[in-house]
Amino acid sequence: MKPYRKTWAEINLDAISHNISTFKEWLPPSTDIMAVVKADAYGHGALTIAQEALASGAKWLGVALLEEALELRQSGIKVPILVFGYLPPEEVPISQENDISITVTDADFFEDMLTAINPAFQPLKFHLKVDTGMGRLGITKEEELQGIIKEYNCHEQISEQNSLVWEGIYTHLATADEEDESYFQEQKATFEQFLQIVKEQGLSIPYIHLANSAGTFKHKQFPYMNLVRLGISMYGLYPSLHMKKDLPFSLEEAFSLHAQLSLIKKVAAHAGISYGKTYLTSTEEWVGTLPIGYADGWRRNLSNRAEVLVDGRRRKIIGRICMDQTIIQLDKWYPRNEKATLIGEQKEGHITVDEVAQLLETINYEVPCMIGKRVPRIYKKNSCKNER
Ligand SMILES: *Cc1c(COP(=O)(O)O)cnc(C)c1O
Repeated sequence: MKPYRKTWAEINLDAISHNISTFKEWLPPSTDIMAVVKADAYGHGALTIAQEALASGAKWLGVALLEEALELRQSGIKVPILVFGYLPPEEVPISQENDISITVTDADFFEDMLTAINPAFQPLKFHLKVDTGMGRLGITKEEELQGIIKEYNCHEQISEQNSLVWEGIYTHLATADEEDESYFQEQKATFEQFLQIVKEQGLSIPYIHLANSAGTFKHKQFPYMNLVRLGISMYGLYPSLHMKKDLPFSLEEAFSLHAQLSLIKKVAAHAGISYGKTYLTSTEEWVGTLPIGYADGWRRNLSNRAEVLVDGRRRKIIGRICMDQTIIQLDKWYPRNEKATLIGEQKEGHITVDEVAQLLETINYEVPCMIGKRVPRIYKKNSCKNER
């Protein structure tokens, strides 16, 4: 349906393309980029972001769920897709049918997976996950790896046609965005021990990967890595405030959030604003109503705290944010439909995703994710303004 409401998230595809091509130029040519588009591309829109990232040089897509991978396949995406999350082993044939690579999370899973393979379908592609210190998915013991290698070799010998492809081995870093590198170094060393076993067993696995965005910035420390999993920094956001300081290049933020004023009026002195009258005017004040609320993911605990840009200048949110509406303080009358920017740039003003994250005591990752499906995503490309 055509969006009628005057609230939208604007996604700057030029920023995505800039960020991907910058990484591509900076990484060694042998390192491929996986664009991580889980959670609807961190709220930016999975299909459009996937297409833009692929056009800009990414070779792979990464998602959390089989459903997310299937949606991309059903939209005609042909490139390799890796599912990071746990997949019930009985669903393995669906990933075979759709040529989706899956994650082996542990030795039991590997066994169940072998039983579930449908030999009539194309080979099952998998990446083995090693837990080197995240404490989440993955094998933790070297014996587990040895066991899996043994079973894999047996399976290869007895199966008549090729029904299995060991495509990758990977781990996930827990602290790559922090200043203190010690834990990161431990994880790296553990991963390298697992790689050593793979080598000793004479196995050659095409893809070796361990870097999220934060890890990618340290890529020179892992010369064996040939794939990076870029999420947050593809969207132009930094994995942590600390990392912003010493980056080799700058990123462009793709996400912004806007709404047009639905009503502007002057209210009397001592008037209560919104539920619970948590804001009382002291004098006569101009106030404006924005058609966005907590049901859109514009969180209620930004009430009386966050600011928005009108005519390039900061204006306060006053009173409680409602389910569908937010009230702001204005300095004067503005015409109806005047644009307010809740996140992003407007003239000389800028409200960053990081600023909103700080107000919410969370990380920037959560901010575009929290803006719900009810807010249409409008895409901007080649700097042509698609503004309303
Ligand atoms: C989400 C995710 C990433 C991307 O991390 P960023 O910090 O956003 O770059 C990479 N790898 C795995 C396994 C993930 O789940």
